[in-house]
Parts: sequence; structure tokens; C-alpha cells
Amino acid sequence: MAIDNITVIGGGTMGNGIAHVCAQYGRSVYLTDVSKEVLDNALTTISKNLDRQVKKGIIDESTKDETIRKINFTTSLEEAVVEAQLVIEAVPENADLKLNLFKQLDSIVASETILASNTSSISITAIAANTSRPDRVIGMHFMNPVPVMKLIEIIRGLATSDDTATSVIELSKELGKIPVTVNDFPGFVSNRILGPMINEAVFALMEGVADVSAIDEVMKLGMNHPMGPLALADLIGLDTCLSIMEVLHKELGDDRYRPCPLLRKYVAAGWLGRKTGQGFYKYDA
Ligand code: NAD
Repeated sequence: MAIDNITVIGGGTMGNGIAHVCAQYGRSVYLTDVSKEVLDNALTTISKNLDRQVKKGIIDESTKDETIRKINFTTSLEEAVVEAQLVIEAVPENADLKLNLFKQLDSIVASETILASNTSSISITAIAANTSRPDRVIGMHFMNPVPVMKLIEIIRGLATSDDTATSVIELSKELGKIPVTVNDFPGFVSNRILGPMINEAVFALMEGVADVSAIDEVMKLGMNHPMGPLALADLIGLDTCLSIMEVLHKELGDDRYRPCPLLRKYVAAGWLGRKTGQGFYKYDA
């Protein structure tokens, strides 16, 4: 099935990037969020990121204007999904929130609409089971920052149909991305490996093994990582990092996945990384 109309739910760190890429590649997009302020900020972020692409010669001015024209912003979920052939959910990493949202979506979107989640770690099978169309539910795990990163981790739930997987894989390629298909296990591949690495870096900080910059420098210079794990945690959002570790710990039942107490402390303080201006590093507004 060719997918022309896409609705993105949640206009935060990931949602605005997903809307940007879908519109840049010619799709009609609705971006919806419960907060009007988030949608205003999303438009500003998308415009800035498009300007950067123009400066780098990746797109021209007319593509920038056309991309913005293709995105409709609304706080009304019902309005956003009227024509949707694919809904991509990018609300916070909270299982109850996602399960309830998919149940609601299932009752308001057309029966053939595919429902995708950008979840970092929550079971696609469980999300799908909360709908009457588990064959049409799939994980589309974009990477941050979405306009830049090539990978989309495609997660097949237990009941995801071949048709659904094929449509979403084809779309991912048409969005200039490289889809890699994995099965549904806690954290999938990306966060099964990345989550514990970041968590271990926070343990190293808490235990005084080294300071923030030394931990990041060792991993950048020694392991050839483009960013250190603590800077990456700030980019992802420390609340999201904590939620991923909670899922791995609970679902895999192994204490090696216990979230670091220092990560919990930062989240409790509201130090969530770049999005709040303070995490392991400080950021200017
Ligand atoms: P975020 O907190 O930046 O944005 C989430 C947005 O969802 C907020 O703007 C919030 O207002 C909105 N929202 C909350 N409830 C809603 C509802 N019921 N309807 C509509 N909007 C609602 O979070 P994020 O970092 O963009 O993460 C979103 C999802 O993407 C999570 O599942 C996360 O695990 C996943 N993810 C995040 C990253 C990352 O690097 N941040 C990378 C890959 C995947």
C-alpha cells in the first residue's frame, strides 16, 4: 500500500523530526500534540532544521517552503487522523499512556490504517493487543536527530502482518532511511545495547571513576563513538533513558539492567538533558 497521508502524534524531540522527514519526502502530514506551545516550538524547530539543510546544500529553498506547507498542526487528535493511512505515535515512553492512546486510535481511525509506535523499548505486541488490528500495528523506531540519522529500526510484533511490514519498509526507504527489521523483545536491538551502556556510564560517574568529560572523551577517542554516552543521554532525554532501563529491568527480570540511582536523581530534579537546558551538561536556551 502506498502511504501518502501520515499523522504524527506528539510534537516533542522525535515527533517534530518525524513530521519534518515525512513532509520533506512529499507526504501530507498532520502533527498533533496535547500542547499548543509544543506545536509552536515544533514549527520553529522544523524551520531551523530545514534552514540548516538549505545551508548545507541538501535541499533548496523551494523544498523548504513546500515541506512546511505539507505539515498541518493541530491539538485535535480526531481532526489529525481523518485521512491518515499511517499514524506514527511519538508520545512519552510510558506504557499506560501508549496502550490507552492505541486503544483510542483503534476506535477513531479507518480500519485499514496502520498504527506505528516510535517507542524505544515498550512491547509492540502488548500495544497491538490493545487494538482490534494487531496485524496492522508495528514499531517504527526513528533515531535522534530524525532528519540526520539513517536508521529506522522496524519492530514486528507477534501478530504484525507481512503486508504491514512491507508497506512500512517501503515507506522508510522512500523517506531516505535504511530500515532494519528486528523482533519484539524489550529494548529491541538498539536500546537493549545502548541503554545499558549509557546506564553504566552514569554508574561510572556516580562511583567517581571519572568526571563527565573524561567518561565521554574515553568513549569518543577510544571507541570511535561520535558522541560520549553522557552527551548522548542528554540528547535522548534522561527521562527516556530511565524509562528504557525500567522496561529492560522489569521485562527481562535481571538486576544487571537496574537503573543507576544517579540517573533517577537527575530525572527527579527535572534535569532531563537538552530539552530542559540541564543534564550532565548545561545548555543555553
Ligand atoms: P518528548 O517528551 O520530547 O515529546 C513527547 C510529546 O508528546 C510531548 O510534546 C507531549 O506534549 C506529547 N504528548 C503527551 N501525551 C500526548 C497525547 N496523549 N497526545 C498527543 N501528544 C502527547 O519525547 P520524545 O523524546 O520525542 O520521545 C517520544 C517517543 O520516542 C518515546 O516513546 C521515546 O522513547 C521515543 N524515542 C525517543 C528518542 C530520543 O532520542 N528522544 C529516540 C528514539 C525514540
